[in-house]
Amino acid sequence: MPAKASKVSLKEYKGRRDFLRTPEPEGRREKTDKKRFVVHEHHARRLHWDLRLEIGGVLRSWTVPKGPPEKPGIKRLAVQTEDHPIDYIDFEGVIPEGNYGAGTVKVWDTGGFELLEEKRSRELKFTLGGKRLKGTYFLLKIKGGKIPGDKNWLFFKAKE
Ligand code: MN
Repeated sequence: MPAKASKVSLKEYKGRRDFLRTPEPEGRREKTDKKRFVVHEHHARRLHWDLRLEIGGVLRSWTVPKGPPEKPGIKRLAVQTEDHPIDYIDFEGVIPEGNYGAGTVKVWDTGGFELLEEKRSRELKFTLGGKRLKGTYFLLKIKGGKIPGDKNWLFFKAKE
């Protein structure tokens, strides 16, 4: 299916960063027909992983506090964060102290991504072709529930 253009711009990404002080790419919305994903391992104040999917000229992004599930049967919280520019797909480096997300960023996994289905902006079904993450995955937005906020999703691998 064709990817929908992202409704969120990169404004939030740019607003949080001073590009004279961080090595992160400034980037912009790009038209690409590549379909890739990356998971960054981010040693910030608290270690976490960031899942980024190439959709609509940006990298839609989710923070996964406990890391992505490598097997079916594990559901992980994924908190949606600001879209990142496509250039971020291979970013690795150290964000200096005093900057947003200060700490070391490494690529944990990357590869092909294909969006299979997107329903009402709250259900994504997709395949990942990485070294660690391979197969069909889901991201489902959590309605209400015990965890406050409207940016919380569940991230899990489909049963094979
Ligand atoms: Mn992060």
